[in-house]
Amino acid sequence: MATERTFAMVKPDGVRRGLVGTVVSRIEAKGYRIVGMRLMTIPREMAERHYGEHQGKPFFEPLVAFITSGPVVAMVLEGEDAIAGWRGMMGATNPKDAAAGTIRGDFATVIDENVAHGSDAPATAEREIGIFFGESGLID
Ligand code: ATP
Ligand code: MG
Repeated sequence: MATERTFAMVKPDGVRRGLVGTVVSRIEAKGYRIVGMRLMTIPREMAERHYGEHQGKPFFEPLVAFITSGPVVAMVLEGEDAIAGWRGMMGATNPKDAAAGTIRGDFATVIDENVAHGSDAPATAEREIGIFFGESGLID
């Protein structure tokens, strides 16, 4: 047994398109526990920190512009192997490669707007949970 916590997000495109309920419903149906949840518009400096690994890449500026373009739903999920499990539920980064049945496979067509985010490793999860929920006292 490896109970993990991961950081998950419905990105601005998902919120704009009314997919919050669908995404949350899949998380709950899977059996992960939602231990933190907040609706927020990400400030620019927080977005730059969150996507710090991509600084300097050609898609960095458009990515920051997109992720700050409207409210997101930020979450902390808890469950058995939740980090890889949630990544699997989201599907490949590029929706063109994402299998049917995954969130990106079912609800997105282009890499720039791919509906959901999930931490890619335990250290990333800890870092991202800290960025979004660190001082908040909002985690169960
Ligand atoms: P995320 O971190 O958003 O959950 P990911 O971990 O699957 O996605 P990353 O490699 O971390 O993918 O890229 C972060 C985001 O940057 C992607 O979700 C995508 O929207 C965008 N992105 C990544 N690679 C490219 C690319 N080659 N061209 C355009 N956008 C890209
Ligand atoms: Mg990533």
